[in-house]
Amino acid sequence: GSTVGILGGGQLGRMLALAAARLGLKTHVFDPDPRAPAGEVATLATTAAYDDHAALVAFGNSVDVITFEFENIPTTALDLLDSLAPIRPTREALRISQDRVIEKKFLQSIGLMTAPFAEVDNAEDLTAATTSIGLPAILKTRRFGYDGKGQARISSENDVPQALAAMRGAPAVLEGFVRFDREISVIAARGTDGAVACYDPGENVHKNGILHSTTIPAALSPSQAQDAVLLAGRILNALDYIGVLGVELFVTPESLIVNEIAPRVHNSGHWTEAACTIDQFEQHIRAVAGWPLGDGSRHSDAMMLNLIGKDIAAVETTSDARVHHYGKAEARPGRKMGHITRISPKT
Ligand code: ATP
Ligand code: MG
Ligand code: MG
Repeated sequence: GSTVGILGGGQLGRMLALAAARLGLKTHVFDPDPRAPAGEVATLATTAAYDDHAALVAFGNSVDVITFEFENIPTTALDLLDSLAPIRPTREALRISQDRVIEKKFLQSIGLMTAPFAEVDNAEDLTAATTSIGLPAILKTRRFGYDGKGQARISSENDVPQALAAMRGAPAVLEGFVRFDREISVIAARGTDGAVACYDPGENVHKNGILHSTTIPAALSPSQAQDAVLLAGRILNALDYIGVLGVELFVTPESLIVNEIAPRVHNSGHWTEAACTIDQFEQHIRAVAGWPLGDGSRHSDAMMLNLIGKDIAAVETTSDARVHHYGKAEARPGRKMGHITRISPKT
């Protein structure tokens, strides 16, 4: 195919469209927001809501393959698009990753470890869950959470009412608090031919629930690094996955615990732009377009720093690092505006 349809025109969609253009592929981005960052770099942009059937049909008919930059695409829209062009990765990966409980059950079913968890729909469930899981714990909405939104930490019984209120009646999950040494992620890719390529694990630091930095290589033993990559491959194969997947892990002295997965290019993989010949965005486009996967090895160590809100001013004053500005007009607090990646010789 020569036109890739992208659902979602945020910064991830924008970077996918830029990568596709370099490969000589056209992109058609679908997003309800006329100011979506990807709109200005895609070949075509459609501004319409996800319940606008005519717009969705026109979009589906204009592309050879459909991919997406976010998880929460309405099922009705996918039903419509499914018959018009192949959706890659598959809807099964979306269905699983849209819901934290379904995702954790899936991960356990393929032999991977998650934090202990319990479903919480009401106050009685929460009381039972805090008893069985223990404190501290984190209550999270099952769906729609990102950048730490829709989460409440429960350190003592006193925090329970507030945490429950923070869910605003949405179905939730209580997770035991993992005492991790570090957080890492694996950016993994699988092609239409079943080939798998993983980038080296990066070490992630979060601030206020939002990714702050990713450092490569992560401080792992060789066997931990290998386990992380093998585990990501297991997820890809179980899902018969096509494209790039982000796997967030907690590292404890005993084990690797999967925090969550994201069926798309991932913020903690932005360093690949600067430190790899083929970055995660090109890798994803290659996979969904049915091309052979590219070499995912890195030529450098790297440190990626997210530019949140007013931090974006650094783009104009940084000259010793690769900078990426997402083109968003308003630098609201907590909003991801860009990132910079500094590389150094590979260790
Ligand atoms: P993202 O933007 O990555 O999708 P999210 O809103 O889905 O974020 P999580 O990844 O679930 O949020 O949690 C955000 C951060 O909170 C984690 O990276 C980790 O630092 C911390 N955290 C989440 N769950 C746990 C846990 N069970 N134990 C310890 N820390 C946790
Ligand atoms: Mg998440
Ligand atoms: Mg996360």
